[in-house]
Amino acid sequence: MHKVLIIGAGGVGGVVTHKCAQNPDVFGEILLASRTKSRCDAIADSVKSLTGRDIETAAVDADDVPQTVALLEKYRPELVINVALPYQDLPIMDACLEAGVHYLDTANYEPRDEAKFEYKWQWAYRERFEKAGLMALLGSGFDPGVTNVFCAHARDNLFDSIETIDILDCNGGDHGHPFATNFNPEINIREITQKGKYWERGEWKEIEAMSQSMDFDFPEVGVRKAFLLYHEELESLVQHVPGLQRIRFWMTFGESYLKHLEVLQNVGMTSIEPVMFQGREIVPIEFLKALLPDPASLAENYTGKTSIGCLVKGKKDGADKTVFIYNTCDHAETYKEVRAQAVSYTTGVPASVGAEMMLTGAWKKPGVWHMEQFDSAPFLKRLGESGLPWHVKEM
Ligand code: NDP
Repeated sequence: MHKVLIIGAGGVGGVVTHKCAQNPDVFGEILLASRTKSRCDAIADSVKSLTGRDIETAAVDADDVPQTVALLEKYRPELVINVALPYQDLPIMDACLEAGVHYLDTANYEPRDEAKFEYKWQWAYRERFEKAGLMALLGSGFDPGVTNVFCAHARDNLFDSIETIDILDCNGGDHGHPFATNFNPEINIREITQKGKYWERGEWKEIEAMSQSMDFDFPEVGVRKAFLLYHEELESLVQHVPGLQRIRFWMTFGESYLKHLEVLQNVGMTSIEPVMFQGREIVPIEFLKALLPDPASLAENYTGKTSIGCLVKGKKDGADKTVFIYNTCDHAETYKEVRAQAVSYTTGVPASVGAEMMLTGAWKKPGVWHMEQFDSAPFLKRLGESGLPWHVKEM
């Protein structure tokens, strides 16, 4: 039996906490901490009513390393599951090093003043984690996360050589709001409004934001228009899939979402540059976040499904082969199970499965690692059993 600290009580934090609580053989004791303790308490109440289990809660400002270290030293968990925001990645990694605790997250570190989506800051921790005998597992959500493991499965079990990978992310659901984001609005809008980027034959190629799209027939959702975006898993996958010639990432957006985003961008509401307003500085995107629905609140009346996967092309036994490895997830079903919508669910479940891999020793290596650097089999087995069944479709 193991003891974990989950940091972050948003949509994803709620799912991770419920999923860990459903698995008492691995997660013997759970502490959920976040900036606002009342949000942790609300999740703890829901966990109690759905699973009968008691979990502890605490307040922590994870930007403050000594505060997190004090909490770690008091509670003494084996592992921190970081599902706060990308800004907290480095301070939480620092705290883990100081207190001797393993680390897992679902999104790469980002500086507040620059939307960058790069792993270099976290890769710089490799030697320190290795020397301390500690493991950090980066990007254990769906994308990054499960998509990296799908690529590892294709690389190790389905192909002799891989030529191209297209990661395709579709949310075919409807939350009934004209404009809302499915996870933290600030992070989501920063991701979409940056330039698009993909990798081809050893080079990164940049395109204007949302300037390339294609129609794709998503299993259980249907044909949707998907736009080329830069996404962080591309940066690690190009290093870990030998012979790869091209990798791209695509995400679908509805008409209403695009219309609102265009207007908000044109008037400057998505900017991360501070502006003066009535004598004080405000950051437009942070103000916008305050106006938009809390992603966790979308869950109750959400209908439809997410359909996310990797379209992999290559060779097997001398012949051309193309597969789509994917999962579909129903918003209403996930609400029934853990009171969350499918975007939070598809992120929180892999975080709990990644944590299980580390705690049971199925994946264990000091240093800083990506998901595709481990054996995909135990993870994919537990992913299916934990609520995210996956499929391989020959195309
Ligand atoms: P939310 O905004 O709903 O929740 C974030 C939580 O972190 C809130 O509870 C917030 O506290 C807390 N938090 C923020 N700052 C601090 C701090 N300094 N100290 C402690 N807690 C803090 O986000 P989501 O749950 O939607 O997303 C969580 C993470 O998951 C994000 O990093 C996101 O990028 C990632 N993600 C990854 C995906 C993947 O597939 N890999 C997909 C979707 C999300 P408060 O309540 O006080 O604001």
